[in-house]
Amino acid sequence: SDERSLDLDALAWEKMDGLLPAVVQDAATDQLLMLGYMNREALGATMSDGLVTFYSRSKQRLWRKGESSGNVLRLVSIAADCDRDALLIRANPAGPTCHRGTDSCFGEAGLGAGWLGKLERIVAERASADPAQSYTASLLAEGPAKAAQKVGEEGVEVALAAVSRDTAGLADEAADLLFHLLVVLRSRGLDLASVIAVLQARHLSR
Ligand code: AMP
Ligand code: ZN
Ligand code: ZN
Ligand code: ZN
Repeated sequence: SDERSLDLDALAWEKMDGLLPAVVQDAATDQLLMLGYMNREALGATMSDGLVTFYSRSKQRLWRKGESSGNVLRLVSIAADCDRDALLIRANPAGPTCHRGTDSCFGEAGLGAGWLGKLERIVAERASADPAQSYTASLLAEGPAKAAQKVGEEGVEVALAAVSRDTAGLADEAADLLFHLLVVLRSRGLDLASVIAVLQARHLSR
């Protein structure tokens, strides 16, 4: 269920004394960001303005994450678990979610393939950087043709490393290819999620 179909009355408020744990996951990387608690009012506020809001037990009031730091969590979806006593929130963070300045309250390890989503975000941020200071910015400034040419070159380098059984070289060239692929997608205004959706649809239609 997402934020449009979530039925507030079906949640196990009574069993949980009015407070449900809500885990927040980065919508682009799947990284687990933080855990908070929501009462009905906090969930309502989250759904109506699209900014994740908790009930703070220490402050004893609604707490919109980022209210003082500016590091808000922009809501993407909300789902309840199997017995409706816990919430999974997917969101896009405006900055570090943990008050210590780290992206996650649970440490930074273990992002795995989700790192591609984080790199996609870094590439997007470089669009406004100085092309003299950033290779990514210089590629983006030159338009899609330059990044497209790099994708072609790196694709050939991946193929050459693969046939020459150069495993370390293959890892390097595959990394080059993935990076330039993110740049070319960005320069054409296509996000990684759309590409992944194509892969998932193909699998599901098999
Ligand atoms: P913020 O909501 O980011 O403006 O932060 C307001 C206050 O909430 C901070 O001073 C912290 O004490 C606390 N806080 C912020 N982020 C977290 C978090 N991820 N987990 C627990 N407490 C937090
Ligand atoms: Zn449960
Ligand atoms: Zn934290
Ligand atoms: Zn290369």
